Amino acid sequence: MSSIFTRIIQREIPAAIVYEDDLVIAFLDIAPIHPGHTLVVPKQEVASLTDLPPDTGAHLFRIAQKIANAIRSSSLPCDGINLWLNDGAAAGQEIFHLHLHVIPRIAGDGFGWHRPPHLRTSPTPQELASHAAAIRQALV
Ligand code: AMP
Repeated sequence: MSSIFTRIIQREIPAAIVYEDDLVIAFLDIAPIHPGHTLVVPKQEVASLTDLPPDTGAHLFRIAQKIANAIRSSSLPCDGINLWLNDGAAAGQEIFHLHLHVIPRIAGDGFGWHRPPHLRTSPTPQELASHAAAIRQALV
């Protein structure tokens, strides 16, 4: 069963498309945080960042930057931009066809990164060094 985003790519269901090339498509989110909220989606149907070919990932970011610039210089209200990617259910992913949100922000709009007090941590320098070592050892 194809993802809903593959069905948009195949024109089986409608979307407000703002950009398309061989590797990616970008269309408006149907439930935007603000007008212009765009999803940049690889045409290859992968669920996770882990499965995304790096060259496609680089291109996805390049197109997100291009769209962010376009939103900023358009007539739509925009005081700032968030690029947002939910990878995995625990990270809030609802559609398991990877996508990068390009979200226009309005000053004081109240949207944001919810960080409850128990997640405001203060690791020691030793702990930070240990965490960095864990990532370095896993880098390939
Ligand atoms: P995520 O939590 O990152 O998986 O977000 C999925 C996003 O896809 C949400 O912001 C939805 O509003 C959006 N969405 C779901 N269905 C559609 C659709 N048919 N066209 C455009 N955006 C959609």
